[in-house]
Amino acid sequence: MAAQDVVANLRALARLTSTADGAQRLAWGPVWRQARQWFNGKLAEIGITPEIDAAGNSWATLEGASDKTVIIGSHLDSVPNGGWLDGALGVMAGLEALHMFKGQQPPVTLKVVDWADEEGARFGRSLLGSSAAAGSLRISEVEHLVDQTGVRLVDALRENGVELSRIHESQNYLRAVDGKAYLELHIEQGPVLESMNKPTGVVLGTFGVERHLLRFVGQAAHSGSTPIPMRKDAFLAAAESALAFREIAKRYTTPAGRVVCTVGTVRVEPGIVTAVPGACEISLDQRALDKDVLAMMLADARAAAWTAAVSNNVSVEWKRIWQIEPRPFAPALIALCDEAVREVTGDAPHLPSGPLHDAAEMVPFMPTVMMFAYSSNGLSHCKEEDTPEAYLLETIEAFLLLVRKVVLSGDAGYST
Ligand SMILES: [Zn+2]
Repeated sequence: MAAQDVVANLRALARLTSTADGAQRLAWGPVWRQARQWFNGKLAEIGITPEIDAAGNSWATLEGASDKTVIIGSHLDSVPNGGWLDGALGVMAGLEALHMFKGQQPPVTLKVVDWADEEGARFGRSLLGSSAAAGSLRISEVEHLVDQTGVRLVDALRENGVELSRIHESQNYLRAVDGKAYLELHIEQGPVLESMNKPTGVVLGTFGVERHLLRFVGQAAHSGSTPIPMRKDAFLAAAESALAFREIAKRYTTPAGRVVCTVGTVRVEPGIVTAVPGACEISLDQRALDKDVLAMMLADARAAAWTAAVSNNVSVEWKRIWQIEPRPFAPALIALCDEAVREVTGDAPHLPSGPLHDAAEMVPFMPTVMMFAYSSNGLSHCKEEDTPEAYLLETIEAFLLLVRKVVLSGDAGYST
């Protein structure tokens, strides 16, 4: 029954805030405000008025016997022409959790947070509200941001009662919370659960990323007159490296942990059909959940590129373009999540999260875990985004069971 109410609310929100092209709850805009107003009405039905922190995050609280707090979070904002489940699923499941405990005093306090501007679709900075609350947002990074219509972020925030210069005061709200656990339910946004035909997955954490540009330099030469053994072909060194990187990803993928390596761009110079390539630049994006594994993958990639360079008589230089640490979730909560998913669906596949989520920002503050729902065709950020209803109901049921397990374990640790 409870899970059906969550789906009914999701459909009502979609009707209110979508066009034929999908969800239109762009952060800080009128449709997003309308979604929040609708959600506030739902909270009012159980006698809760949310508090808004200095970053515009909306917190709904149900006081428990203890100040220890279980936070359920996600986001009501969407990308333009977005899906009906991305973000909204987690918030509606949170609302149902409040319903589950209303009128009784739960052993711990329960908070549902609707993070502001998770998507970053309008101004380009994802996780704006949660990173502000976590203290990882730098104002200098975002103060110049402007949307496609020329509106400045600082003005869009002000229109919604948020002063960018004081956005860090949102940290005070989070710091005052005695966090026992942070739980987030989200659609997978990828094809892994579908490939296993499983409705629900236990998320182990968010991937760390090492992103680099590699530049191989040899010597451009005439393709007709330069014998193969005498060439310094930069493209061949890059190509051999790319193949080696794929083998690195295979080598470090275990039944317990998938990793990925991707060469996504290639630029050959001089790029003429009759010239041996004198220089070649490729990108390498490596991702893993374990920071030691990620470091080993990078070391192996450096060695492989060096070997390829030497065997082709060229040089190679590396430039890091982006890096983020893995954010592994709490083992005790992963175990509890596994138990809940298993009890409802019979099986509990574990998987990492490729995309970042607000949960990643909560990892330094309290034990955190996420649960994923099956994505039809692996699609998200589009109107086709969906989870088959039977799978959606099972996933919501499993998540509410996880919430019950965490809340009822009270002040102490976790009973698994
Ligand atoms: Zn999302």
